[in-house]
Amino acid sequence: MTGPAGKFLPVPSPETAFWWENCRARRLLIQRCKDCGSHQFYPRAICSSCLGGDLEWVEAAGTGTVSSYTICRVPVAEAYAADTPYVVALVRLEEGPTMMSNIVECDPESVTTGMPVEVVFETRSEEITLPQFRPRQAAAE
Ligand SMILES: [Zn+2]
Repeated sequence: MTGPAGKFLPVPSPETAFWWENCRARRLLIQRCKDCGSHQFYPRAICSSCLGGDLEWVEAAGTGTVSSYTICRVPVAEAYAADTPYVVALVRLEEGPTMMSNIVECDPESVTTGMPVEVVFETRSEEITLPQFRPRQAAAE
């Protein structure tokens, strides 16, 4: 499935529909296990730590650090050509789970492992809004 700009669009499943719905509202949710307290991402029916089935949704802080990344210089499809070079990264959220995402709003060459990042949301279609990450801004005080 592709969006208006020809970019790939995820297809929500029964396990992920609620998560995507919250992305549209610009809220980054993760699951928390009521039995062992572990957080997890991506959405699943059971806890990946204790296999318990009593999970709840909690809003993530939206901050984390880059644990690994690559700079894509060859676009995966023509629709991404204008975006190259772009960064695909594993972001370790404050709560522990890791998300694959893009690092945006910065020079790709400036990205490093351990870099503090924060979530921003990019609307791709009426249904899909993608969480992306940018270098963490200093808190306005
Ligand atoms: Zn658990």
